[in-house]
Amino acid sequence: MKKRIGFVGLGIMGRPMARNLLKAGYPLVVFDLNKDAMEDLVKAGALAAHSSKEVAERTDVIITMLPDSPEVKEVILGKDGVIEGVRRDSVVIDMSSINPLVTQEIARALNGKGVKMLDAPVSGGETGAIQGTLAIMVGGEKKVFEDSLEIFRAMGKNIVHVGEIGAGGYVKLVNQIIVALNIASVGEAFCLGVKAGLDPQVIYQAIRGGLAGSQVLETKAPMIFGRNFKPGFKIKLHQKDLQNALSTAKDLGVPLPLSSFVQQIFVSLLTEGRGDEDHSALATFFEKMAKVEIKSE
Ligand code: NAD
Repeated sequence: MKKRIGFVGLGIMGRPMARNLLKAGYPLVVFDLNKDAMEDLVKAGALAAHSSKEVAERTDVIITMLPDSPEVKEVILGKDGVIEGVRRDSVVIDMSSINPLVTQEIARALNGKGVKMLDAPVSGGETGAIQGTLAIMVGGEKKVFEDSLEIFRAMGKNIVHVGEIGAGGYVKLVNQIIVALNIASVGEAFCLGVKAGLDPQVIYQAIRGGLAGSQVLETKAPMIFGRNFKPGFKIKLHQKDLQNALSTAKDLGVPLPLSSFVQQIFVSLLTEGRGDEDHSALATFFEKMAKVEIKSE
């Protein structure tokens, strides 16, 4: 018998992840504030719930894929939340990217009700979510992780148990720092090349096979060249990740000078009302300073 899975948060990532669970044969109960997203999943074979509490009442494993810590806290611990409907021995898996200290606080509240929790943030973007090839970094009890592996395999490929609850979130913060700094460096460096009169496509072809090559370069450079900033991964969410990195780093006594600078660039783009654009638009900050566009047909 397949476990019954509940899924709350059917956005850019959650929607294709939920679809992949259906494809793998899991009975699925879904909830999102966005009615269109719900309808889409119901058409694909999921059952609709009216609240996160109802999702928890009707399922054995509850997955959340929400923007940030306040939403996850609200959905799990708030009014009509998971904690009001969840049964003893159920498992809650939060796959959002949130502050690991909040994860640990939520886990303590759930543990008090006999409910186990894993934090399992992902990397790989919308494409990875659609193709079921996400990297999944999981924190929590090893046994609960092992019992949930089949579920993770329906959504991802590189699935690693990284430590106790909250560890998944810390690994994701490491990931997000590397990605943000990588995009920023692509933006800054290409401005130099373009200002020197070179075609960005030519620069890209020349360097992609060398040490500067990266998955960020492969996926984000074509978006920058085509001026296509449709998300993908929204600026407001990446800003949130760096903010979480900075606040946990403060607690741990770790200076993050480069992250702090890039976080401020994200804030400047948010101030321009560009929070819903893809994070590759980080490059436009450097373009403005250099008075150049990294554009190519
Ligand atoms: P999104 O904004 O597209 O989706 C979030 C969904 O949550 C929306 O459908 C929204 O309606 C729903 N929601 C918000 N509050 C809710 C509530 N109280 N109850 C029910 N539903 C609620 O975000 P996304 O891009 O899918 O990202 C989700 C998480 O995954 C974030 O933490 C993000 O940082 C992380 N992430 C995103 C990507 C990416 O490329 N988009 C990649 C890796 C990780």
